[in-house]
Amino acid sequence: MPQKRYLLTPGPTPVPPEVLAAMAEPVTHHRSPDFKDVFTEALARLKQVFRTENDVLVFTASGTGAFESAVVNLLSPGERVLVVSHGEFGTRWQKLATAFGCDVVPLNYEWGEQPRAEDVARVLAESRAKVALLVHSETSTGVVSDIRALVAACNDAGALSVVDAISSLGAVPLETDGWGIDVVVTGSQKALMTPPGLAFAAISERAWARTAQATLPRFYWDWARARTNQEKGSTPFTPATSTVVALNVALRLILADGLESVYARHVALGRACRAGARAMGLELYSPDDDGAAVLTGILTPPGIDAVALRLALRDRYGITIAGGHGDLTGRLFRIGHIGYVDIFDITTALGAVELELVERGATVERGAAVAAALAAYESGT
Ligand SMILES: *Cc1c(COP(=O)(O)O)cnc(C)c1O
Repeated sequence: MPQKRYLLTPGPTPVPPEVLAAMAEPVTHHRSPDFKDVFTEALARLKQVFRTENDVLVFTASGTGAFESAVVNLLSPGERVLVVSHGEFGTRWQKLATAFGCDVVPLNYEWGEQPRAEDVARVLAESRAKVALLVHSETSTGVVSDIRALVAACNDAGALSVVDAISSLGAVPLETDGWGIDVVVTGSQKALMTPPGLAFAAISERAWARTAQATLPRFYWDWARARTNQEKGSTPFTPATSTVVALNVALRLILADGLESVYARHVALGRACRAGARAMGLELYSPDDDGAAVLTGILTPPGIDAVALRLALRDRYGITIAGGHGDLTGRLFRIGHIGYVDIFDITTALGAVELELVERGATVERGAAVAAALAAYESGT
């Protein structure tokens, strides 16, 4: 029998069969009415998932591309920008803004820490930066920040907020308009249950006003050009048309389920995964609370190499999970529960981890992880 494959990383994530089937439809021309109808429908659905009345621009890119679009449309060379980092992605946005010649004011935390609104308020007051770049779900650590409070601090200081919601939008609550967020960026390949290739930016009226004064060079990422085209159901350049067709199906599935039910599923899966890890006596790296609903970071017992464990899961059972970074490469593995993931994906991953830990000589109570995961899942639904 061919090996069954399980993709349980925090992006890309598994894609439902209906969405994959849409990818296989004949390619449409991007200026044809066929495509225009699908694109227009997808744009309307995106607004619902982003919880915004404003335009959501679509780019053919990974999430980083849409984030770069925010930098070049909002900032000018040498301009100050606050960039909060509590993990890999905040650090990436500091490097990105530096590469464009911005004067980056870093607010750095240890990896795994929660950024604090009072720090954001203080650094904005000290630096007088008028734009802040923030990360909602820090995928390197599993920490989901209190983005509502961080954005409120920006709004109080009169600074625009740009939020990396790449692994959080469609997984955990995010109210673009309700929380007064100026720019929300995400990608297709995480909670939106679509293959990689599309990136999105929701933009407030205040952010649009700033675009007119910002002087960093831009062409492919020019928001104004994208908006003019989207108003006509089109894009300035050839988009990944098949991925747009697939996205439209995925958004329909998400909205049919209902965002509240989608969020509740993520919480329940996070509970299940953490309970399973604890039942094996493993230490959690991601926070042990319901806020950490996007992924679970787990440390192997001392002496058991996480890299070898992950390779064995892939080779023996067809299960792909994510690794760790830096000093933790040999200890940390991360199980994603974003998007098209159910409880049996989680018990599959936990069961395979148990088999491999026992194989490597760890003392693990057999079957405890799956039992604990199922019990936690039931309590959460
Ligand atoms: C995945 C991810 C990114 C990177 O997105 P790409 O699509 O790979 O460019 C950025 N930020 C966060 C929080 C992510 O999870």
